Amino acid sequence: MARVRQSGTAPELAVRKIFAANGLRYRLNNRSLPGAPDLANRRRRWAVFVHGCFWHRHSGCSRATTPKANAEFWLSKFARNTERDQEAVRALRAMGYRVATIWECDVTNSARRIARALRARQREPGG
Ligand SMILES: [Zn+2]
Repeated sequence: MARVRQSGTAPELAVRKIFAANGLRYRLNNRSLPGAPDLANRRRRWAVFVHGCFWHRHSGCSRATTPKANAEFWLSKFARNTERDQEAVRALRAMGYRVATIWECDVTNSARRIARALRARQREPGG
């Protein structure tokens, strides 16, 4: 079963809003990039994933539970998800991208911090 990739979920919309407020330009779900990052800027070479803690296994997060029924099914599904996530990050980094992951349990703080860092970098010469 293919993983349903929803676009425009509440955490994603919150991130977009914060990035736009910081004057950052981006493309959504760019499928020509590994893992189709939720937000990305090719020219400035950054990519951001907005991940649900359950599906993408946010380490140490209380939302990353494992259902008791069919535990094996879930564990192998989670393993595939995290493998795919790590592979996308590796591939993007190999292309010279700065990659950040924003978790749904901490969307606002993370998005603000990352947006500020990206904005500061844009002001640097050649940034
Ligand atoms: Zn989390």
